[in-house]
Amino acid sequence: MENKKQLNVYENVCRQFNQAADRMNLDFEIRKILSKTMNEISVNFPVKMDDGRIEMFTGYRVQHNNVLGPFKGGLRFHPAVDIHEVRALATWMTWKSAIMDIPFGGAKGGIQFDPRKYSRNELERITRRFTFALGCNIGPEYDIPAPDVNTNAQIMAWMLDTYASTMPAHVRQACTHVVTGKPVEAGGSIGRDKATGQGVVFTIVQWAKDTRFDLNGATYSVQGFGNVGSWASRLLKSYGATLIAVEDATGAIQSNDGLDPDILTSYVNDTGGVKDFPGSKKVEHAEFFTTSVDIFIPAALENQITAATAPGLNVKLIAEGANGPTDPDGDRILQEKGINVLPDILCNAGGVIVSYFEWLQNKRSEFWDLVEVDGKLYKKIISGYHRVRETAQEFKMDWRTAAYIVALRRLEKVYKDRGIFP
Ligand code: GLU
Repeated sequence: MENKKQLNVYENVCRQFNQAADRMNLDFEIRKILSKTMNEISVNFPVKMDDGRIEMFTGYRVQHNNVLGPFKGGLRFHPAVDIHEVRALATWMTWKSAIMDIPFGGAKGGIQFDPRKYSRNELERITRRFTFALGCNIGPEYDIPAPDVNTNAQIMAWMLDTYASTMPAHVRQACTHVVTGKPVEAGGSIGRDKATGQGVVFTIVQWAKDTRFDLNGATYSVQGFGNVGSWASRLLKSYGATLIAVEDATGAIQSNDGLDPDILTSYVNDTGGVKDFPGSKKVEHAEFFTTSVDIFIPAALENQITAATAPGLNVKLIAEGANGPTDPDGDRILQEKGINVLPDILCNAGGVIVSYFEWLQNKRSEFWDLVEVDGKLYKKIISGYHRVRETAQEFKMDWRTAAYIVALRRLEKVYKDRGIFP
């Protein structure tokens, strides 16, 4: 997989933001506010390793904006995590929540390391020590982390436990919503695990309806086979579509007869990657990108669809499960080629939407069933989809810029209503 990042992914966000702000004539003063992140927390903290050594880690939490509600966004564990990436991801979260009409702002965090190189006990201590280092920079009504790349429900359970343990005894029970994406038994929501993939599939199905495209018999490829890629693949299979190619950090595989996403999920859980999946042939990165399919779902890292890869893409639709998979050059090429794009801040919002439902359930001491969660997710994400589609039609523009305009209009209105203190 192409892991080489462009120098600074935050520059992509700035370019996207400026383009949308110009097109909609965003208020000049509000533009100044939204073009900066509010708070940037960077922490260096020591962790004891299994062999008794101490290792130092660097973690980040960037809070972009909270005018619509508490800061919200995931935490990732990856060697490529740096301040630019976290800044970009935090900013995308602000737009995402604003488009989906949920009362959250945007934040993101992470630790710069490769979790595959550490034992489970070490991961627990790294997570707990990071949570402790963040201290009151997070909180159930202030900033609410969630899973992202290489983090999961277990990591969230350790965070909750650490955060609550540092609080006075009488407020600990009121802390459950300090993180979302928890295990269901520890206060998580049913349906949160599959939520991002489910949202990706809901938006693909809506696109198929709108464009009169038959998903039954369609083909798709997926980059990244973690939570988002595997769930999206499995859920799309039930519409009669066939998975043809998958790429992850271990390599790329392909089969014209189709890859079974359910079997592939168990295989990846057992082996750690898609490499050598029985019945598939190994392909190179370049060949993976030129595989002809109807739908391509990038569900890995940023900057994958670029001036280098976009020209070879042979697809009708790109459904962005990842955050920031397409850079501005890639975007321009996709537009020239007439490839439809469901942009990340619309397409992958299912995760934060169900995080909002989890947060609400915790606050009200309620447990909703899957029918209720999925039904509400569908309503939220499809309403967002329609807002973006209408805006794209109104301005006769691409869906990414339209999605930005939906978000920016909402934020502009709130700033105008509230004014600036003092
Ligand atoms: N990490 C996910 C995202 O990028 C989910 C964030 C959340 O649930 O707060 O949207």
